[in-house]
Amino acid sequence: MAYCALLPTVTHYLRDECAHYGTPDAGVWVCDPPAVYRPRHPEASIFYQTFEQHFDSYVRAYEERFELRSGPLRRVVPESVEQFLACGRLQGGFARIRCPACKSEHLLAFSCRARGVCSSCQAKRAALFAEKLTSEILPPVPYRHWTFTIPKAIRGLFERERRLLGLLSRTAYDSIRKSFQTLFGRKDVRPGCVISIQSFGSFGANFHPHLHVLVSDGVFTRAGEFLELPSVDTAAVGEVFRRLLLRRLHDAERLSERFMHNLLGWVHPGFSVFAGDIIPAEDRQGLERVARYITRPALAIDSIRRREDGRLEIQTPLDPRTGATVRIFDPLEWIHAVTAHIPDRGQHQVRYYGALSNRARVTIAGLDGQSCRPSGMQQKRDEEKIDSSRARRASWARLLRKIFEVDPLLCTCGAQMKIVSFITEPRVVDRILRHLASEACKARDPFEPRAPPAAASPSPT
Ligand SMILES: [Zn+2]
Ligand SMILES: [Zn+2]
Repeated sequence: MAYCALLPTVTHYLRDECAHYGTPDAGVWVCDPPAVYRPRHPEASIFYQTFEQHFDSYVRAYEERFELRSGPLRRVVPESVEQFLACGRLQGGFARIRCPACKSEHLLAFSCRARGVCSSCQAKRAALFAEKLTSEILPPVPYRHWTFTIPKAIRGLFERERRLLGLLSRTAYDSIRKSFQTLFGRKDVRPGCVISIQSFGSFGANFHPHLHVLVSDGVFTRAGEFLELPSVDTAAVGEVFRRLLLRRLHDAERLSERFMHNLLGWVHPGFSVFAGDIIPAEDRQGLERVARYITRPALAIDSIRRREDGRLEIQTPLDPRTGATVRIFDPLEWIHAVTAHIPDRGQHQVRYYGALSNRARVTIAGLDGQSCRPSGMQQKRDEEKIDSSRARRASWARLLRKIFEVDPLLCTCGAQMKIVSFITEPRVVDRILRHLASEACKARDPFEPRAPPAAASPSPT
């Protein structure tokens, strides 16, 4: 079962880290201890209910209403939606948690890890990614956050054929590389780039493929030396990007010769390339914030409102032409818009290029501290590395704390709770949930810490 995918993480957590959390002086809490975790009840949101009530109709209506525009229904869509509907729900299995001090118990549901549709899992993934990127992958040099967008006229190509998103991302990297090499007047240098492919626009429910790129503000030589960029010219990079992308789409037989020349001739071509301010080498927190931002979920689970007529309303930035600040969707249109952001199986949303590609990373790591790192920084980096890998073992509970500022294992009495077993067997899950719903339990909130139901408690494993 897909939602059990989290099990190894939680088990790992239990084995290696529980003991560390037991004492306040273990160095885990640097400020006040976090608040007590409360289950998020996804089923109470309009977002969840819309999928629960309308997804089957969406699948039945797909061919007639959406196929022409977006291509056939991708297999990954129903699979991901099914996982999302089980995410955070006890029906999908749970961990039994007990407080050693006051003996109270509660259940913690598993999460789904579905990409593109589950905002809760995507937020966790973004936090984990940002941390790994800044603590392990990016050498401490200055960076900038670049964005690459493309005109409306060709966005549909990428919706119907997701593979082309790889070409889009590679083309953005090549434009940066070529421009930087020209600036330095040498071919043996390259920048380091991390590209996050994002398919949603400003209000989350529109299909707007574009790229967020963290670019080293300079280039690395073969010897691993870092040369800072003397200046940045986004217009030049933008022009290289536009020409290269249109040429490549034409070569791949996705654009006719005429259409390509049309797009090249436009005065306002709809292509844009921006670069943000420099993020200095020592500002790792700033870098981590950007990394989290560029991999954030498309829509928050509480982002929509249901109108009296049953349609859905979503807040949007002010439309300069119409003055509108909301968009209205019928439920199937809305499901279509949201599921467009689910990436294909095996398609990487984040890609590494140049000095950050897998092979090059080894070279840079090998030269570690000698050329690309300001001296004195190395020992600190090593210490940080050890600390962070220790901390990372507790990823799941720690990430929840980081994102929601709560600790799923903190009891109301103040003690740290422990995971006593994982319940995944559907028969046992059913029995426990039936008991929780029974008359004897009804009067109480089943999530309040309490003694386990005697008749249904499975033996801890
Ligand atoms: Zn307790
Ligand atoms: Zn999830």
